Amino acid sequence: MLLGILKETSPGESRVALLPESLKGLKAQGIDISVEAGAGAAAGARDADYAEAGATITTNRADLLASADVLPGVNALDPADQARLKAGAVVIGFLKPLDASSALQAAIERGATLFSMELVPRITRAQSMDALSSMATVAGYKAIVMAADRLPRLFPMLMTAAGTVPPAKVFVIGAGVAGLQAIATARRLGAVVEAYDVRAAAGEQVRSLGAKFLDVDLGGINTEGGGGYAAELTEEALDRGRDLITKTAAHSDVIVSTAQVPGRPAPRLIRREAVEAMRPGAVLVDLAAPAGGNCELTKPGVTQQINGVTLLAPLNLPAEVPVDASKLYARNVLNFLGLIVKKGELAIDLTDEVLAGACVAHQGKPVNPRVAKLLEPIASSS
Ligand code: NAD
Repeated sequence: MLLGILKETSPGESRVALLPESLKGLKAQGIDISVEAGAGAAAGARDADYAEAGATITTNRADLLASADVLPGVNALDPADQARLKAGAVVIGFLKPLDASSALQAAIERGATLFSMELVPRITRAQSMDALSSMATVAGYKAIVMAADRLPRLFPMLMTAAGTVPPAKVFVIGAGVAGLQAIATARRLGAVVEAYDVRAAAGEQVRSLGAKFLDVDLGGINTEGGGGYAAELTEEALDRGRDLITKTAAHSDVIVSTAQVPGRPAPRLIRREAVEAMRPGAVLVDLAAPAGGNCELTKPGVTQQINGVTLLAPLNLPAEVPVDASKLYARNVLNFLGLIVKKGELAIDLTDEVLAGACVAHQGKPVNPRVAKLLEPIASSS
């Protein structure tokens, strides 16, 4: 069996799916590993390190695509690469199957089996494969570091002979995985932190990090959507959150917003007036930008200056911390590979709920019902 590690081609991507340190257990099972030259360069993994770990290095991407049985990646392959896949190859990565399922059509036509890391069920047994959580952790940290870098103020309170500097005030919207890491990082830098989330359960976690949890009376409606996620709220309930956010923004130096509802566009929670109410020099980092953004002024991927406020809408923050993001992601991928590779051979059992959950297509047939539905119009028109 040949496992291939390709150089990622998405603009701005610097992560790699497996690192040299990931290869030992795979080599011990007799798996051949081929790495495209430069695949790990931006993540601190040199070709020589992969070679030392037992991989061969190739500059022939087309050949690697045509011969690999398993291709763990970070992002989906582009359609031209998909068309070169070995028939029946297994592809793993953040494949965006629900946002861009038609972009996977070429691989499905090659008879590929596709596993999407964002669909790995977030159950206890699969925690070590939960790449959404590991990347959200990196993004939450980096959002605060970016905000601290842009802010024309200091984060910690300083008492000096020249006077006292008050601590920065940070407001985190959405206290899930990314939000909690943002809170912890801001606290470590000495900021005073407030946070808001619709899930009451988040309150205790926020307070345990030394931040203040802001409660909103949503009239006792259900805010939990199952699996620890938030439910989609009514406009009226969203408005109560928007009012709180506008009020809190007026005394915040930094806002990091992370609110998301799975499978839906990000809730628009931050009004224009909230941004305009922020102090000059304030920074807003909209981590929900890939899902459209939490702020009504957000332009995904674009940094804007609005009334002296910097609004950042990064699309791929983990790629800005490629060494550790790759380290965590590679662990997630390696643990996932452990489910489909036994004694050096592929053994895919789709009765396993983790594999069934993550499988987009198996041997050329869409498995995920939502993906199958999205692909229906394409199949019937071809
Ligand atoms: P997410 O990225 O979907 O959302 C981020 C946060 O936004 C969530 O905390 C959500 O409640 C909040 N949010 C949504 N709509 C909002 C609104 N209108 N106003 C304010 N906040 C809003 O979620 P996530 O960070 O991936 O995970 C959320 C939770 O899921 C975690 O805190 C955890 O409880 C659970 N989880 C469980 C596991 C596991 O068991 N393996 C793994 C990961 C996450």
